[in-house]
Amino acid sequence: MLNLILFGPPGSGKGTQAALLVEKYHLLHISTGDLFRYEIGNNTELGLLAKSYMDKGQLVPDSVTIGMMKNKLAANPDVKGIIFDGFPRTVAQAEALDVLLDDMDTSVSYLISLDVPDAEITERILLRGKTSGRSDDNDPEIIAKRIAVYKNETTPVFDYYAEEGKSLKIKGVGSIEDIFGRLCEELDTF
Ligand code: ADP
Repeated sequence: MLNLILFGPPGSGKGTQAALLVEKYHLLHISTGDLFRYEIGNNTELGLLAKSYMDKGQLVPDSVTIGMMKNKLAANPDVKGIIFDGFPRTVAQAEALDVLLDDMDTSVSYLISLDVPDAEITERILLRGKTSGRSDDNDPEIIAKRIAVYKNETTPVFDYYAEEGKSLKIKGVGSIEDIFGRLCEELDTF
């Protein structure tokens, strides 16, 4: 199985690239942000809980996020591979993911981080906020909080997989096609 963690700050283009990669490599795309928004849209208990954190730019608690991921993986036993988008966002989530994949007799193949400067990220998110309908995309203070959470809690996940020689960075600036080309170059060597 090809199991890719698509990594990078909020607004770095993970969702956009994941959609293209899924088509080319026939992988299952799991975006924890999308899963939470689906729950919010259906007014579920999980959705209400997630929303209370997302609206503040905070992470949803690990136990909740990991439980949701466990269910998603259990519901998709026969996949060729998986693109994880927005997960793991903490070292505890990474450790839990390793156990879940081990139970499926597989493991993380790569973590690829999309490298984008802070100033560009904020600009991109605000632009997305004009059409995404996401309340967390419209407020510069919440965006700054999300970037701070990324730096403090999420970047250690890069180092976690770097210890196993699995982490790499690619330039996340340029056209969507250019960035996709860079990702494919890496994945085609797998
Ligand atoms: P972005 O990458 O632009 O921040 P996402 O859709 O990935 O957008 O995430 C939106 C929000 O959903 C996050 O700010 C966070 O509150 C919540 N979220 C998504 N994934 C996770 C996760 N793995 N752990 C905790 N919270 C998460």
